[in-house]
Amino acid sequence: MDIGNLKSIGSSNFQRLTSNIQFDKPHEECGVVGIYAPGAEAARLAFFALYALQHRGQESAGIATSNGRVAPIHKGLGLVSQVFNEDNLHLLQGHLGIGHTRYSTTGAVKLPNAQPYLIETALGPLGVAHNGNLTNTPALRRDLLQYGVGLSSSSDSEVITQMLAGAAGRTWDERIAAFMQKAIGAYSLTILTRDAVYAVRDPWGLRPLCIGALNGTGLVVASESCALGTIGATFLREVRPGEIVRLDEAGLASWQGRAAETSSLCIFEYIYFARPDSVLEGRSVHWVRRKLGARLSREHPVQADMVIGVPDSATAHAIGYANESGIPFGEGLIKNRYIGRTFIQPDDRLRRLGVKLKFNPLPDLRGKRIVLVDDSIVRGNTSGPIVALLRQAGATQVHIRIGSPPIRHPCFMGVDMAARAELIAAQMSVDEIANHIGVDSLGYLSLEGLTEVVGPGNGGHCRACFTGEYPVPIANDVGKQAFEQR
Ligand code: AMP
Repeated sequence: MDIGNLKSIGSSNFQRLTSNIQFDKPHEECGVVGIYAPGAEAARLAFFALYALQHRGQESAGIATSNGRVAPIHKGLGLVSQVFNEDNLHLLQGHLGIGHTRYSTTGAVKLPNAQPYLIETALGPLGVAHNGNLTNTPALRRDLLQYGVGLSSSSDSEVITQMLAGAAGRTWDERIAAFMQKAIGAYSLTILTRDAVYAVRDPWGLRPLCIGALNGTGLVVASESCALGTIGATFLREVRPGEIVRLDEAGLASWQGRAAETSSLCIFEYIYFARPDSVLEGRSVHWVRRKLGARLSREHPVQADMVIGVPDSATAHAIGYANESGIPFGEGLIKNRYIGRTFIQPDDRLRRLGVKLKFNPLPDLRGKRIVLVDDSIVRGNTSGPIVALLRQAGATQVHIRIGSPPIRHPCFMGVDMAARAELIAAQMSVDEIANHIGVDSLGYLSLEGLTEVVGPGNGGHCRACFTGEYPVPIANDVGKQAFEQR
């Protein structure tokens, strides 16, 4: 077996790139996919599935495939549509494939952190695509380095790849289970080997991962169910916390790699991160967001003429608020959908300009009292400029309603929440925030409201960004980094 077929643009850039390994804060948001499609080209299916998962990461994209003889890879910086074309998709042969989209705000956009990782091992090629963040990475890194394994990036996903490659066991089934004994934190993985695709979910189920059926014999795994419909697959079920799923010519096999811990799917997936047309724990994300908006309206009613949402992430919350309150829903703000996050620099001045590049107010705001619904406030940089836009457009009052509680704690499990010092609600009271963003009133959904609307799901959720209670141990050096860095 040869993994030398690395003719793609991404790979050759990889060879030329000059960079330092920097130990960035551990925040990555990603989408993963895995395809087993006998008789079909896995790369094309992975490409369209990644398109549907683009909201989970816009910084880099990659696909690795296997036809049992060669395992080519192509990855690069940018959107899925910028990274792939006919020529490079054509090189990605095989009925087995994994794909990845990645976003991180670690400053410089770096190709060595792009995924999947693909390496040659004693058991043949190994490709890994990872969504989430391990919370014991420093110790795992030290172990690998002491063992003589060289690492080329700062990514915990490379650590996972090397751990799998060197884990105890004669088969991938055994090695994956051995890896799971040591890893702590969030990992939804798709893994490519010569003859199979695996899907693995951490024992807490922190990040989503689901399985679909494709044209009779094919199978697919993806971060979110919205990627299944796009490629004509039908939803089968979610990957269970701690479960290993293998897709190969024997069909679907699955078993517990490690016993499940307390179920802790990230509640922020419901609030902001997942696409509204995805289904999580049996519920439509759009439906949950409408219910959150309705609850918000009961908790923080206000006299107003129009409810608008910050498009697109808060549209469902705003519809829920409007329906419950009886105040008409209006569009209010039009979003330029072609300005990606990639172009909005992590610097305050440019972020402010970013809001103007992104949103334009409609003239029918003039003379109206507006309820502006947003899904969350993180750093507090977005709301102020949007409120200013609405006032410039003639709104007489602006009342902000937020579909989640104040975010006061950093995330170590894979959502870019900023360091604690940058979280506005960690620094200011609700009244101070209202003053800071210049609104007539501000109301956040309560933690009880959020918890009741989302319900127990499969047993519970990670709400650490609101409560500071983390479902997994956080290594001291990981915590220190995220509290201080940026
Ligand atoms: P800010 O308060 O300026 O940090 O921006 C908050 C806005 O960003 C909210 O309207 C959310 O829709 C969106 N948002 C929330 N969480 C994230 C995230 N992890 N990455 C990017 N955008 C986010």
